[in-house]
Amino acid sequence: MEKVLIFKISKKGQKSKWKTIAILSSQTLGQFDNIIRDAFHHDTYDHLSEFYRGKAFSNSGLGEIEPGGFGAGSKPQLDKLNIRVNEIFEYVYDFGSSSIYQIELIEVQDRDLKVKYPNIVNGSKARTAYCSSCKGGGLKVKAEYIVMFKDNLKKEKLCKDCIKMISKQKAYINHLIQ
Ligand SMILES: [Zn+2]
Repeated sequence: MEKVLIFKISKKGQKSKWKTIAILSSQTLGQFDNIIRDAFHHDTYDHLSEFYRGKAFSNSGLGEIEPGGFGAGSKPQLDKLNIRVNEIFEYVYDFGSSSIYQIELIEVQDRDLKVKYPNIVNGSKARTAYCSSCKGGGLKVKAEYIVMFKDNLKKEKLCKDCIKMISKQKAYINHLIQ
């Protein structure tokens, strides 16, 4: 019986955002990449990504993945990687804005022939976060970015207008997934 790998994927630095994904051990990193993009609302037609057997941007990269299942990194089958249960590795979507995810193999199951793989099993519920700067002025505007200031490491969620006031030299800026 073919095996199904159940992975928990969570956004690094934003652990409340997570999904679990079921994928066949015979499926490839390219297929895994595609469903992760889907699960976290990243585009599937642009930007490179890569899995790392360890910390992102270390020399443990498994090769670049181009959208659509191209690139050396999309070829390997999951069962060739011998991933252990509870092993944690990392995934980067888009080297420009660098969304980093931690991936943990949480369980191995038998394949259910009625189910199509890969699929998104479960995930954190979306809850709208509002821009903290606009909120100060009495406005409810959806936050689209999360900012961490380099001097005091304070975090703030901001909308796409307010983010323009923040200097990249002074803060780490990431897209907020919700
Ligand atoms: Zn705002």
